[in-house]
Amino acid sequence: MGKLVKEGQEGGRLHIESPLMGESLVSRTLLSGMNRGEVFRMHPDVNVLKIGGQSIMDRGAKALLPIIDVLLAAKEKHKIILMTGGGTRARHIYNIGLELGMPTGVLSKLGDKVASQNAEILSVLLAKHGGVRIGHGDHLEQLTMFCQLGYLPITPGIPPYGFFEHPAEEGLIPPHRTDCGAFLLAENIGGKSLIYLKDEKGLYSGDPKKAKDGEKLEYYGRLSVDELIALDLDDLIVERPVLRFLKHAKCIKEFQIIDALRHPEHILAALDGEHVGTVIYKD
Ligand code: ADP
Ligand code: MG
Repeated sequence: MGKLVKEGQEGGRLHIESPLMGESLVSRTLLSGMNRGEVFRMHPDVNVLKIGGQSIMDRGAKALLPIIDVLLAAKEKHKIILMTGGGTRARHIYNIGLELGMPTGVLSKLGDKVASQNAEILSVLLAKHGGVRIGHGDHLEQLTMFCQLGYLPITPGIPPYGFFEHPAEEGLIPPHRTDCGAFLLAENIGGKSLIYLKDEKGLYSGDPKKAKDGEKLEYYGRLSVDELIALDLDDLIVERPVLRFLKHAKCIKEFQIIDALRHPEHILAALDGEHVGTVIYKD
């Protein structure tokens, strides 16, 4: 806590002495001494649901409509913000940009429009039920109020890195896409839970869609983030930076990945705290 100290007698000027004064904010010793048990949670009752772009939205009405029915039932019982993925159109624009040799930040800007399109679609579909699209990063202090009033807020999942996107560990594809955006928002609003709505039951040892005939993949129902990082799988069902985020998260202690395509009812189950997919947790 800063304290006011008088400097000298004559001028009587006041200075604020702060514990961070003169620090580079880089020192490991300083930073590790600043860990605290609990962080302020702005929306402790709000559940962040990310609806997959490729895994759900791209499949159109057949996939979406049953999910919407469950979401409408769920919002009577739970506070929810829906975040949208990009999907195939984002992949197409990344490919065009890649062929043109565009850098990662430009690819990020090109792809983010698709998550917005998907948010637009959902907000139109849900308009008569209280679906309300909130702009990228807007009105986030009001989420609890929106939910209390019966609204279902919807926002694009893409985090606003754009030209400030980090270089990818490998290649040029922007590493922080909508799974990352959903995690970061859930963490920073101090949300109740984070649930990824996808088209597989959760995490396997490889991509089930690419498994060869007879290949037996291992399924992980519950896994710590450290175990998952140590497995060093070639492919994952969530964006890789999410693992690092969870490792360092101050609010979010776990997230669940569910098959909302084949089992829309699992959305409500997951909101009720049931384990219906893969739970990745931090120790
Ligand atoms: P979204 O559109 O929700 O972002 P993605 O298509 O980007 O979903 O990622 C989900 C897909 O990841 C799954 O549909 C699955 O085919 C694939 N996948 C890759 N690796 C794995 C894995 N280890 N376990 C499960 N699914 C995986
Ligand atoms: Mg994805």
